[in-house]
Amino acid sequence: MKEILLCKYGEIVLKGANRKYFEDILCKSIRFRARHFGKFTVTPSQSTVVIEPQDENADLEGLFETVLKVFGIVGVSRCAVCEKNMESIERTAREYLPQFLSGVKTFKVEGKRSDKRFPLNSIELSREVGGYLLSENPKLKVDVHNPEIVVHVEIREFGAYLHAGQFKGAGGMPVGTNGKALLLLSGGIDSPVAGYMIAKRGVQIEAVHFESFPYTSERAREKVFELARLVAQYAGSIRLHVVSLTHIQEELVKNCEEDYFTLILRRYMMAIANKIAKDEDCGGLVTGESLGQVASQTMQAIGVVDPLAEIPVFRPCIGLDKEEIVQVARKIGTFETSIQPYEDCCTVFTPRHPKTRPTMEGVLEQQNRLPFWDLVEEAIAGKTVEHIRTEF
Ligand code: ATP
Ligand code: MG
Repeated sequence: MKEILLCKYGEIVLKGANRKYFEDILCKSIRFRARHFGKFTVTPSQSTVVIEPQDENADLEGLFETVLKVFGIVGVSRCAVCEKNMESIERTAREYLPQFLSGVKTFKVEGKRSDKRFPLNSIELSREVGGYLLSENPKLKVDVHNPEIVVHVEIREFGAYLHAGQFKGAGGMPVGTNGKALLLLSGGIDSPVAGYMIAKRGVQIEAVHFESFPYTSERAREKVFELARLVAQYAGSIRLHVVSLTHIQEELVKNCEEDYFTLILRRYMMAIANKIAKDEDCGGLVTGESLGQVASQTMQAIGVVDPLAEIPVFRPCIGLDKEEIVQVARKIGTFETSIQPYEDCCTVFTPRHPKTRPTMEGVLEQQNRLPFWDLVEEAIAGKTVEHIRTEF
C-alpha cells in the first residue's frame, strides 16, 4: 500500500489568475525540504499539493513533520492511495484505517468524487464505505453530527485516496510571494514572533542583530543564532547581519543625558537597519514592538524613532498582549531559548528613568551631541553576516 501526503492550500485558492505564481513558489519550497527526506514528487492538483514518495527509503514521516511548517498550507493529510474501484478501496480501508480507528467509538465517512467518471456519487460512496467499516468493526457507530473521527474517501484523477483526518498546517502565504523584509532580531521573546508572523504573510526575511561586545557576551550572540535557526524552520534560510553598537553606546554614555540613552540607541538601530535594508533590497523593516509594553514602545517613543526608516516598518506584535506573544513563542518553539538570561545591548547602560513622552526637539538636541551618521557608517562597515539555514 502506498502512503502519500495531501497538502491543502490556504489563501492561494483565492488568487485567481495569479494562482500559478503562488503555487510554483509553494511547490519549490516543499521540494527544497523534501530533498532532505529522500525521493519524492511534489505535484499541484486541484487546490492541493500531492507529495508522493518514489522509493521505500523516502522518509514520509519526517517530511510530514516539516511540511506542517510550510506557509501556504492549511492542512496536511496522510493518505493511502489505491485503485479507483470499491474492492480496492475496501481492501485499503481494512489495511490502513485500523491505526486511526483503535479506541474510537463514533465515525462518519465523507466521500468526495472529484473524478465524475467514478460510478458512485459522493453520497453513495460515503454510504458504501461506511457500511463496510460498520460490518468490519461491530463496536463502531455512525455519528454524522459529532463523530470522533471522519474518514475521507476521495476519488481523484490518479486514484482513490483514503485518510482519517487532517492535521493543521501553518497557514499563511508561501514565503517569497510577498517581498523581503529586514527583521530587527534581539534575543527577546517578541522579535522572533514578529519574524514568524511576517514570514507567515509570505515575506522572506533577512535579519539584523545589534550587539555590544564585551558588554554583551558570545553566549548572547549564540542565543540569537539559535533563535534565527528556530524561525528559519518556518521562514526558510535567513541571512543575519550582526552589527556592533559598542562604540556608539560608549559615545552615548559619554555625551548624552541618561534619560535619552535608549531612545537615541533605538534611533541608531533604526537608521542602521534602514540602510542595510536598502542595500539588501528589503522592502520593509520588522520589529517586535508592542504598544506600551515598555518605555521605548509608547506612541511618542515610537514616534521619535520611526521617521528614520525610509521604508515601511511592520510591527506584527503591536496589538498583542505579552501573554499572547508568549503563546505564539511557545507554539513555534522559541520561548525557551528567548528566556535564557543573557544580556542584550538594550539592557546595558539602561536609564533609570527613560523618557516615555519624548519630543523630537529633545531627542535631536541629544543626538546632535554625536556625529550620528559617521557612527552609523562605522557600525555598518564593521558588520558581519551569518547564513542561518533551515535545519531538518
Ligand atoms: P524583544 O522581546 O523582541 O527583545 P522587547 O520587548 O525586549 O522586544 P525592546 O528591547 O524595546 O523590546 O525592543 C523592541 C524591538 O527592537 C525588538 O522587538 C526588536 O525588533 C528590536 N531590537 C531590540 N534590541 C535589539 C537588538 N539587540 N538587535 C536587533 N533588534 C533589536
Ligand atoms: Mg529586547
